Parts: sequence; structure tokens; C-alpha cells
Amino acid sequence: MALLQISEPGQTTAPHQRNYAAGIDLGTTNSLVAVNRSGKTDTLPDSEGRHLLPSVVHYAENGKILVGHAAQQKQASDPLNTISSVKRIMGRGIEDLKSLSNRLPYEFDGNSDTHVPRIHTRQGNVSAIEVSAEILKNLAHRAEQSLGEPLSGVVITVPAYFDDAQRQATRDAARLADLNVYRLLNEPTAAAVAYGLDQNPDGLIAIYDLGGGTFDISLLHLNKGVFEVLATGGDSALGGDDMDHAIAEWLIGQAGIGEVDALLFRQLMTAARQAKEALTDADSTRIELTLGEQDFSVEMDRATFNGLIDDLIKKTLMSCRRALRDAKIDKDEIDNVVMVGGSTRVPRVQQKVGEFFGCEPLTDLDPDRVVAIGAAIQADVLAGNKPDSDMLLLDVLPLSLCIETMGGLSEKIIARNTPIPVARAQEFTTFKDGQTAMAIHVVQGERELVSDCRSLAHFELRGIPPMAAGAARIKVTYQVDADGLLSVTAEEVHSGVKSDIVIKPSYGLTDQEIETMLRDSMSHAKEDIEARMLAEQQVEARRVIEALDSALAQDGHELLTDEEYANIQKVRNELEKQIDVANSEQLKKAIKAVEAASEGYVEKRMNASVRQVLSGKNIDQVDV
Ligand code: ADP
Ligand code: MG
Repeated sequence: MALLQISEPGQTTAPHQRNYAAGIDLGTTNSLVAVNRSGKTDTLPDSEGRHLLPSVVHYAENGKILVGHAAQQKQASDPLNTISSVKRIMGRGIEDLKSLSNRLPYEFDGNSDTHVPRIHTRQGNVSAIEVSAEILKNLAHRAEQSLGEPLSGVVITVPAYFDDAQRQATRDAARLADLNVYRLLNEPTAAAVAYGLDQNPDGLIAIYDLGGGTFDISLLHLNKGVFEVLATGGDSALGGDDMDHAIAEWLIGQAGIGEVDALLFRQLMTAARQAKEALTDADSTRIELTLGEQDFSVEMDRATFNGLIDDLIKKTLMSCRRALRDAKIDKDEIDNVVMVGGSTRVPRVQQKVGEFFGCEPLTDLDPDRVVAIGAAIQADVLAGNKPDSDMLLLDVLPLSLCIETMGGLSEKIIARNTPIPVARAQEFTTFKDGQTAMAIHVVQGERELVSDCRSLAHFELRGIPPMAAGAARIKVTYQVDADGLLSVTAEEVHSGVKSDIVIKPSYGLTDQEIETMLRDSMSHAKEDIEARMLAEQQVEARRVIEALDSALAQDGHELLTDEEYANIQKVRNELEKQIDVANSEQLKKAIKAVEAASEGYVEKRMNASVRQVLSGKNIDQVDV
């Protein structure tokens, strides 16, 4: 995980032993695990040679928990205790479920007062995080058996569109499974890595992922080894299952079936799926069904099947078109199309996608395994098994990059999860009249106070021409380049005085630490608000005093009687005393008192057409 830190000059990486790492594709329908062994990265099979682990968990009567194929076998007989497609509800609240629950075959705990929905099973209520943890444990165990060593860490893939809550839920699942997460990697990025596309200097890549029940299109921009997600799109209810459905409907018509009960429907869907998969390799296949007393048999050829799924493919291409529009790129500009997901094995899908993008899609790697393979390649790099020259991929900032402002507050310049490379600028101003230098403190983290964030660098902008407080305009630009290097420049806009610093990435902070920092930022939110308000009031109080002193020195004795002068001075001194002892509310009152006491004075100054007003702002600047 990239953490930006100042480099020690001449720092070298100490030699290290080999660490065992795995990549995990935690899928909606199926999950996989891949590792790198003797320079080759591939997915691992279970003891029966199966690479795909169905993402299904069964809570059995004997208190055991079954995962994968064994759980899948219980789906028909015990659907309520057999949880599938749990990825759809990861990081989702009760409210979000309303739209999903009619598609999910299990029951939710009705009176859950936490906002994490819990699924009702005979072994108690379980959250999506716990169900996912069972799948992760199973896969990690498979990897450890195969490597003969405990895993030092894993990379888990998530859809590019997963938000913070969904990513956090995935991390929590990994923690429950006792896994060290090097990082979460976007699924499309992993797929591109599996094909080695990150070795190209740059390019535009489309990742077409058609799974069992979901379709995702992601458009990535690769620039010097860094992936930026330009757009994502798709349909969360479109996939191979719909192809099965179309075949089942066709079978109902062919066999002249009237009533379809749940059992028959399941039988039809299974037959349909077998036929579909057979048609990937064969031009024609025979479907046989037992309908009560009668046997029914029919031949289905590929042309018929293609006819049934063309609309579905068209829908996916419409999503592609939308994503291209969002990314503001033309489909001819796409350099590579990577096919992901079991359903991209269907020849018609490959053909139509190729026609749409006008290029041959990449299909050499098994579309089921490509995401896990990419994750494992990344995991190996992150585990430190690659030379330093193998640059680490960064696609988003793990934590926000901030600047310290008056009062020890942290102001975000670039928010976390922003794709990199990125550059953002923000303007600041001076606090004191005649201020000629400004200290810039670069910090990283999510908390409101600098003291709770991680300090990255200090530097100074000197030679600012002396101006009234608030008149200087200092533009601070943060730029994170393709190598993950942060450079910060500060420039006084009027005079062009400049200063800069380069901050190098380091991978020192573990995800655990990042997690703790993120969690802290949530659990401390309330405290932080008071701390921030107080700090703000303190800054405001100092500013008011500064401005008042400067005004009084200029024309106080000219415009005010001695009594008026003394009165203003008194409330001013009272405010000054309060700064370090009062809470935000008290301080606010003291500031108000100073403002009230000096109202008449401000009016006199304005009448005397003095440009400098009490606010300390320069009149020219008011409309800036
Ligand atoms: P997910 O990403 O949703 O977990 P997968 O990528 O594992 O899903 O894809 C599962 C889908 O791929 C299923 O609908 C399955 O029928 C389909 N599939 C698997 N193998 C083939 C094949 N040989 N031909 C056509 N479809 C296939
Ligand atoms: Mg998938």
C-alpha cells in the first residue's frame, strides 16, 4: 500500500526472505485463489481438481459450516440456511436491501437495530461479512496447504465501483478470516495485470466482465504502470443466468410444458446451463429431460442459442457505449479488450464484443481465473518478493493528502481513493500583516486534527512580498505522479515566488494501520467536530485581535475618544485571555463581544474611507 513519506537519502531495501502471498477473487458466484510458485502464477484447485469455489455457505444442522460445492448441494433442499450471492449485500445497509431482497433467496433478521443487515440461519444471524469470511478462510486454507507455509498476506479483488463501505466490509471479512490484506485491488485492474498490460507504457483498456449474474464494464487508462479508472458501468442483474433462463423458456415451449413448479424450474435451469456450456465447444447439443413419466429430448444448435442471447449481449454493449461516453473516449481509441467472467467463453459474446470494439478481445487466459491471477501477481510484488525495480502499481490513493492550516487543522487537498496520477491545487492566504514566509506542513490521513494524521513533510515558502493579512494568495499544488511520487509546490500568485518539495512513496504503513486510522476517523468524528470548532474559533479570535491591533495602531487614537479606546481594549484583552482556556462556544461569545464593542469604530473607519476593514481583509480582496 502506498504511503507517501519523505525518503531517507541513500536508503536501501534490506534483503528479505521469501514471503508467501496469494491473490483472491471473491466473486458473486464463484471465488478463486491464486499463488505464484517457481515464477509461475496460477489458480489452485481443491483436492478434487476444481479451481472454482462456489461462493456459497451452508449452515448445517450439526453446527458445521459447509463452503463451496458441498454448500451448493444443499441449496435445493435447504435454501434458507444456504447463503449465496452474498457479495451483493456486502457493505450495504438495511435500506439498500429493499431493492435487492426479492432477488435474494434467504431471510433477513426483521428487527435488527444495527444497520448491518443480518441473515437469519439456524446457527443464528450472520452478516455478509461473516459469510464472506468463511469463503476467504476456505481459500486461504487451500493456498496454505498448497504452499506448505502460512500466508503472509493476500490481495483481494473488488469491483471497481465498490464504495468505501463495500471495500471496508471486504477488509473486515478478511480480518475475520485472520488474513493480512496487503491491499484490495480493483477486479479490472487485476485482469489487466494478469495479461501483463501494466508492462506497456500506456494505453486504454476495456475490461468486459460477464459473470453468472452480473455484467461489469470498466475503462482503464494506463499511464507508466498506473491504472486510472476512467469509467465503470454495467448491470447488476445480467449474466450467464439470464442465458440459462432464455434456454429454459425455449425448452418450455419446445416440450409444451404447462405448469412449471420450483422443482421443474430448477431442473430446466440445470439442463439449460449444461447445454449452454456444451455449445461453447460444440455446434449442437442434445438436451434430455425427465418430465414426470415421460422423457423429453431435443437438439439445440448454436444458431438457435445465439438467437436467444443476442438481446442480452446487445444490452451489455449498450452499457459499454454509456461507459465510453462517461469516459469521453471513442471506442476506436481502446487498445485492448480483456475478457473476464465465465460467460465470456460463449463464442457469440466474443464475436459481438470484438465487432463492437473493432479489435480481437484477449481470451488466452481462462476468463474465470484471470482476476485471481492478476491479484496473485500483485500480492507477490507487495509481499516483497520482487526486486524494487518492479514498480508497484498504484491506482488510487489509500489515504487523503492534506495540508495543515491555522489551528492545527488538517485540510484535505486530495481525498483518498482518488485515482492517480492526479494534481490538485488550493489557495491559502497569510495570517499576519507583512507576513513574508509561510510554513507548509504536508500530512496524510482522514482525521480533522493534524496531530492525529501522519506527518509527511515540512517546508517553507519564503520571500512573500509584505502585504496586509489576507492579501497574499498562495497557491499550493499537490501532484502525485505515475510513480506514486508526491510533489508539493507553493507559489505566491501575485509575485510568482515559488518553493517546492518532492516526497517519495514508502510502503511502511500496513493496511491494518490504515484501517485503524480510518476507523478512528469514524469513531472520533464527534470529538473531532468540537476540536475543529474550537481550533477554528481560536484562529478566528487571533485574527480578530491581530486586525484590531493593526487598526488601532493606525488610527485608533485619531478616531476614538480615550474612553472608547479603553473600552475596546478591555474586551480585546478579555478575548485574548480566553483563547487558550475557553471552549468553542465561550470563545465565539468573546469574539462577538469584541465585534460589538468595535462596531462604532469600524463605522468611523469606513466613513473615513479607510481601506482596511476590521475583518483584516483588503477591500480589493473582498470579491475575490
Ligand atoms: P461471477 O463473476 O458472477 O462469480 P463467473 O465469472 O464465475 O461468475 O461466471 C459464471 C458464469 O459463467 C455462469 O453463468 C456459467 O454458466 C458461465 N460459464 C462457465 N463456463 C462456461 C462455458 N464453458 N460456456 C458458457 N458459459 C460458461
Ligand atoms: Mg467474476
